[in-house]
Amino acid sequence: MAHGHVVVIGGGGTGAAIIHDLRLRGFKATLLERGELTSGTTGRHHGQLHSGARYAVEDRDIARECIEEVEILRRIAPDSLEMNYGLFVALDDEDLNFAPTFLQACREATIPVEEVPLEQAFRMEPNLSRRVRMAVKVPDGTIDAWRLPLQFFASARENGAAIKPWTEVVEVLHRDGAVTGVRVRELPTGREYEISADMVVSATGAWAQQVARRAGIDIPVTPAPGTMVAVKKRLNNMVVSHLHPAGDGDIIVPQRGLSIIGSTQWQTDDPDDIEVPGAHIEYLTSRAAEMIPAFADTPFHAAWTACRPLAGASSNVDDGRKLSRDFIAIDHGISDGLQGFISIIGGKATVLRAMGEKTVDLICDRFGVEERCTTAEVPLLPHRAFYNPALTGTPSSLEKGVAS
Ligand SMILES: Cc1cc2nc3c(=O)[nH]c(=O)nc-3n(C[C@H](O)[C@H](O)[C@H](O)COP(=O)(O)OP(=O)(O)OC[C@H]3O[C@@H](n4cnc5c(N)ncnc54)[C@H](O)[C@@H]3O)c2cc1C
Repeated sequence: MAHGHVVVIGGGGTGAAIIHDLRLRGFKATLLERGELTSGTTGRHHGQLHSGARYAVEDRDIARECIEEVEILRRIAPDSLEMNYGLFVALDDEDLNFAPTFLQACREATIPVEEVPLEQAFRMEPNLSRRVRMAVKVPDGTIDAWRLPLQFFASARENGAAIKPWTEVVEVLHRDGAVTGVRVRELPTGREYEISADMVVSATGAWAQQVARRAGIDIPVTPAPGTMVAVKKRLNNMVVSHLHPAGDGDIIVPQRGLSIIGSTQWQTDDPDDIEVPGAHIEYLTSRAAEMIPAFADTPFHAAWTACRPLAGASSNVDDGRKLSRDFIAIDHGISDGLQGFISIIGGKATVLRAMGEKTVDLICDRFGVEERCTTAEVPLLPHRAFYNPALTGTPSSLEKGVAS
């Protein structure tokens, strides 16, 4: 017997982690995504598995959460990660002066850091600039941006979740100050219908404000797009980052056979209108070449944008940079007097599981349900099981004949 029906809006990594957790804790759960699964920010991000080193100086708690989640993902979803580690490289005196603060902050956040002698760093990464003055190894890695959420979706669906892509929520329904369900439009047929729910969770990232308005409320989220540029060669095997305070164009992630530099950041009102600003390609390429000179001579592969759902409202770009990379779950029953509606915004792909856990903890609290979170322990199904349920490996799915 389910504790209640929870509708999750948004089929990115956050929605994936929430619906998986909801099923493990015994809720009836339905996920609605207006496009394909992972078609929002999740399927377009930089692909870095953050050890937390990038955040350690600014925010020790976020850094600690990242390293904890890296260890958890290595246990529950190793096939979606490449544990290739990362090198932070100092290029000048300013970087060298910053290094002790960086090392100390990483240690305080329990991130294992190791200064690597330069000769060894050049052997590990032969394309590194010979201007590099110091190299520090951290447990960063590469995430497969599509496969990781699909592992959560496959596991949730095998566990009984309903997952409906191409289904846009056009209205959050409520009566007497409490949510009663959602009105959806199926794409491409245009058919509209209602789904009743005891609780609705918006995991719509950069679109959270638009969806909240469909419930008649406003929330503090700043859509902040960023550009990434990929070249057609894997120039580095580790994630190479500039050892300085986090800024634009300071991380090169190896992804399959490509190298990707990212990112820039600006702000927009409309997360669906985020063309690549032409100047960003040149800028990012030159930043990459400071760390790996061959980047500038390697054939261009692609440039694209993705939109950050920064938690908090900001009217200018400088403030936007300072907004936390943390996430918040807003209970609109408390903030806006609308019971049964929660928005989860902010965060990072690396911490998607933790975002799911915190959100479902809140849902359990509101339902008065005492169920422990087990997502850190339960291994996820392979991503291919999402397309081919026969690969779930459980007798039940084979008996159901779902593979035929
Ligand atoms: C440039 C850039 C680089 C990044 N790089 C990294 C990185 O290297 N490592 C890392 O850990 N994190 C990275 N991130 C952060 C990470 O990508 C995001 O935090 C994460 O993907 C957000 O996932 P989400 O599920 O919350 O949002 P999304 O993936 O955006 O999912 C929200 C979904 O809601 C859907 N939706 C919207 N409105 C409706 C509606 N009305 N009805 C139904 N569905 C709706 C959208 O279509 C979308 O699919 C990066 C972000 C950016 C912008």
